[in-house]
Amino acid sequence: MKMIRIGRTDLVVSEVGFGAIPIIRLDLAAAVAVLRHALDRGITFFDTANAYRDSEEKIGAAFSGRRGDIVLATKTYQREGKGAMEQLERSLRMMRTDYLDLYQLHQIARREEWEAVTAPGGALEAVSRAREAGKIRYLGVTSHNLAMALELVRTGLFDTVQVPLNFIEDEAVKEVLPEVRRRQMGFIVMKPFGGGVIDNARVAFAFLRRHEGLLPIPGFESAAQIDEVLSVYEDPKDVGEEDLEVMDRYRRELGEHFCRRCEYCQPCPQGVRITPAMGYPILVSRMSEAVAVEYGKAAMETVPLCTSCGSCVERCPYGLSIPEILRSNYEMYLRHSKGRGSGKE
Ligand code: SF4
Ligand code: SF4
Repeated sequence: MKMIRIGRTDLVVSEVGFGAIPIIRLDLAAAVAVLRHALDRGITFFDTANAYRDSEEKIGAAFSGRRGDIVLATKTYQREGKGAMEQLERSLRMMRTDYLDLYQLHQIARREEWEAVTAPGGALEAVSRAREAGKIRYLGVTSHNLAMALELVRTGLFDTVQVPLNFIEDEAVKEVLPEVRRRQMGFIVMKPFGGGVIDNARVAFAFLRRHEGLLPIPGFESAAQIDEVLSVYEDPKDVGEEDLEVMDRYRRELGEHFCRRCEYCQPCPQGVRITPAMGYPILVSRMSEAVAVEYGKAAMETVPLCTSCGSCVERCPYGLSIPEILRSNYEMYLRHSKGRGSGKE
């Protein structure tokens, strides 16, 4: 596995990292096995978050005694200092270590959040002190909001930034990536599979490999998934005409209604399960209508609760017309449900 340096830091890691959200779905033994398989295959960068339930604990269990072989990154959602320090101590305990290679402020998407983080007694002040104390080696930030991410990069306070980037959501290559390079920061790629909507690893990673210095962290929950992604790196090919067509097909299918699953719109005061309901057409395109109806039922049945209050729209960084899209998805779901009942669509 090729090793790369993360920006101007002295962290040298595998050119593909491990995003540790999916291991929360596995039991401890299975998660440990997947994590160890990744390290055996040469992956050395592991990214998790305090918010990812027991992910940190599983990483701690997998790599106990092998701390020197891995580079550990985690995150805190806390905006004030006391909470951020409590989470930092918890992360250290869960991952059985006394230092973190990279500590990231998690999802700073709105100005109010940045103001809270930078206020006296805020998280930034606290993590800076923890860095001086040697508990954190480098400081990073993550965001789904690219305008905000650009501002955060420009503060010069961070060693890395983590934003979504894939061939569907490729806006980050326009402004954020050049600024990151100019400042010699690390660029960690969130959602290389578009949050699960891209199921073609070869094309997904061929696209990312065109941009130098990126560190993608696909989420893995099986050894087979790891092997599939690494096979793209073992036999690198540039993007060909056929691949461009594949990318276009994905973009056409998803169109302007593409929900990035960032969940900023939630919670809905009426209990609408916005994210899975927004993704219903993707389910349909990936499965049969019958399976999509069955799989999406629990979320789709909450859509009629929507009162079009608009509070989710205000929170969506991508400006999606959520109530309209939900209604249209629900109509599609009803058509498919009827088609399923009568045996025809
Ligand atoms: S517009 Fe509908 S889905 Fe959005 S928050 Fe209001 S009730 Fe919930
Ligand atoms: S609707 Fe908008 S805010 Fe909600 S998950 Fe999708 S992209 Fe994110």
